[in-house]
Amino acid sequence: MNLFSRFKVLWGPLAELLYPRVCLVCGESLLRGEQYLCTACLADLPFVYPQQHIGEHILSQWEDAYRPQQLYSLFYYNKYSPYKQLIYAIKYRSFRDLGNYLGTMLGERMEGVCKADCIVPVPLHPKRERKRGFNQALEIAKGINEVLKIDICGDVLCRVRNNASQTGKNAGERLKNVEHIFELRHPEKLAGRHILLVDDVITTGATIGECLRVLCDIEQASFSLACLALTL
Ligand SMILES: [Zn+2]
Repeated sequence: MNLFSRFKVLWGPLAELLYPRVCLVCGESLLRGEQYLCTACLADLPFVYPQQHIGEHILSQWEDAYRPQQLYSLFYYNKYSPYKQLIYAIKYRSFRDLGNYLGTMLGERMEGVCKADCIVPVPLHPKRERKRGFNQALEIAKGINEVLKIDICGDVLCRVRNNASQTGKNAGERLKNVEHIFELRHPEKLAGRHILLVDDVITTGATIGECLRVLCDIEQASFSLACLALTL
């Protein structure tokens, strides 16, 4: 066994010791084969089922011209739910692959029902993306793409203003905060397509609404939405 192989054999247990793998939701140690969530927390994930009609109040706020046809969300949470840790881990703890992992799970639930033929992830401002190292919406989109094989189009919608975070703002402030933050580039690329707009969380729908307002200039486009979580 050469030195590198020895290191590899030793590194696994050592890494476990230095960085114990724990469930992001309950903090219990993860067993072999478990990823990010323990089996119990995964089983209790508050999935959104179509018959629950969660999120209809979000869809109903937009004009007919660009109202999305479908809204998919993997789960829902409120401010007291430990499941909000999943979103927090992706955005602020650099759990980049978790976005992809949960995006794949969401894609599996959309199989056979999603009518979209291209995915547009909600863009971050380039400055914020550089700081975080990735765009979480794109990671989620990649997970969905792995299952549904729908093309991702990341260069049509651009974020041109680096607005403040929506966290802690009321509905009115959120609308004001996202005014004119997006621009459209080469809209002809997506003419006639059914666009799946993807974001990590939809709260009041202010950011998504601003995206839709800009994207509706694309000729003959229709829309659906997908997010990892809806907040209640
Ligand atoms: Zn757990």
